[in-house]
Amino acid sequence: MTFQQAPPTLGNQYEDDRVLRSYLARVFPGEVLSEIGPSLIEMGRLAGAELYQLQLADRLNEPKLTQWDAWGNRVDRIELTPLWQLAERIAAEHGLVATAYERKHGSLSRVHQCALAYLFTPSTDIYSCPLAMTDGAARTLLASGNQKLIERAVPHLITREPSEFWTAGQWMTELTGGSDVGLSETTAKQERDSEFRLYGRKWFTSAIASQIALTLARPEGNPPGGRGLALFYIETRDEHGRPRNIEINRLKDKLGTRKVPTAELTLNGTPAQLVMGTTDGVRNITPLLNITRLWNGISAVALMRRGLALAFDYAGKRVAFGSTLAEKALHMDTLLGLQAEAEAAFQLAFYVAELTGQNEAGEIGEDDAWLLRLLTPIMKLTTAKQAVAVTSEVLESFGGAGYVEDTGLPVLLRDSQVLPIWEGTTNVLALDTLRAIGTTESIAPLLSATTRLFESLHDPTLLDVARVVTAALNHAESWLREAQAADRSVLEAGARRFALTLGRATELALLIRQAQWSEDHEQDKRSGASARRFAQAGVDLITG
Ligand SMILES: Cc1cc2nc3c(=O)[nH]c(=O)nc-3n(C[C@H](O)[C@H](O)[C@H](O)COP(=O)(O)OP(=O)(O)OC[C@H]3O[C@@H](n4cnc5c(N)ncnc54)[C@H](O)[C@@H]3O)c2cc1C
Repeated sequence: MTFQQAPPTLGNQYEDDRVLRSYLARVFPGEVLSEIGPSLIEMGRLAGAELYQLQLADRLNEPKLTQWDAWGNRVDRIELTPLWQLAERIAAEHGLVATAYERKHGSLSRVHQCALAYLFTPSTDIYSCPLAMTDGAARTLLASGNQKLIERAVPHLITREPSEFWTAGQWMTELTGGSDVGLSETTAKQERDSEFRLYGRKWFTSAIASQIALTLARPEGNPPGGRGLALFYIETRDEHGRPRNIEINRLKDKLGTRKVPTAELTLNGTPAQLVMGTTDGVRNITPLLNITRLWNGISAVALMRRGLALAFDYAGKRVAFGSTLAEKALHMDTLLGLQAEAEAAFQLAFYVAELTGQNEAGEIGEDDAWLLRLLTPIMKLTTAKQAVAVTSEVLESFGGAGYVEDTGLPVLLRDSQVLPIWEGTTNVLALDTLRAIGTTESIAPLLSATTRLFESLHDPTLLDVARVVTAALNHAESWLREAQAADRSVLEAGARRFALTLGRATELALLIRQAQWSEDHEQDKRSGASARRFAQAGVDLITG
């Protein structure tokens, strides 16, 4: 008889997710959880069934750019793949952006939205990219106070009606640099009042099929550097669907995110409107970056979760040396190490979602506002690195099958690899961490926050693990003091290790708090086991 290997399969991705369910049970009041439960069950079902099946079937399709029509007209039409077309409709109908703005459950609506995004993301091949920028554009326009643009665009960005739904792009990176955007060369010529025309080249513009974009350009006469740039709003196409003085030169040929149409553009007098002021564009676009960094973290934990859901399922099906992989101590030890990373990352990403929601609802205190500013870059850089490491190991856990494209597995690694690069690289965000600490010159508020997280601890093994957090943060604090007193290059050279240490220590602190709750309320010790495992994997990365 010929041997036939059973492939890994997915169930309802909400119902099967112990970590998500336990977290939501702790954070949401029971009646709110009952209210939002059906939306999560439905998204979990779609993600494990129709969307996942379409994702596998859509594997070889890619977005297509048609630059010219048959009669020689420049059209620069983008055709998205069937998966992305469906993803757009589902995203609108299920309120992937809207939920955070309808705010039916106050600040917790941001967490509800992130839970939906976490379920949706791994089955839609980075459709999270345009959604993140759409969410970020809505937040930025609302923060700008520009009533005309708010009334014009925001209702489209946050609607649940697919025919009305717009997505947004964020065009910052030029050939001169994505980190040092102050070097941007795009210029803005004023036509009248706040209406300008833009001239220049944008080097990475993802989700180019979007109806609007927020971008940076330098009004004529402005000084060089980031301060001289202004933030502009663009509607990308006219009423006939033709690009408005924008040429799409080509789509990037990328390692991953291949469903995302990422273009190189030339702006030839593109009509644009000032969003707020004629300077300080880099500062004014910050609300957008904070939101896309949150989405980056949610995507990182979502991709880790998908890889592990498949890997654990497969371990129960694959037989080697007389028993399933699930019965091999070493194989399961390997997967549980990855599970610990994913669980710790999950706690940090969703903690930042909670703080973001509180901030948006105007319910945040001074200390938590400082924590949000500090933890947004830290969360983004830490979870992105974990996603690359975990998805790489997930591929190995399938043996050769993990390296073969039509299993649908390699894309997990390729798509994860973008997470540390876009929305600020690891080094750039590590330096931003130093800026966030700023004048406080100390991480004392983070130490106090973790101490508060430990107030309800009584399991002695978790108390032991809590000491690992405190030791790592104390070490980070003393390193920071010494580095600040030394040459600036000492501080910069150690910034990545410092930021990752803060990230891992905060993840562990949050995981311990969740583990104690889960032991007390669910009689479940699995999060506690993950916390102990994570602590052993290394939290303090500071050398010297
Ligand atoms: C798939 C994809 C899609 C993208 N989509 C968009 C988009 O839609 N819109 C957009 O605006 N951009 C987009 N980007 C661009 C992305 O944001 C940039 O590539 C990124 O910010 C890095 O910029 P860069 O490529 O110019 O690298 P550089 O800025 O040249 O950086 C090169 C290296 O130098 C390091 N570095 C830079 N400065 C410092 C420093 N001071 N100290 C230490 N190290 C430093 C960086 O960490 C990096 O490792 C996309 C990128 C990719 C890969």
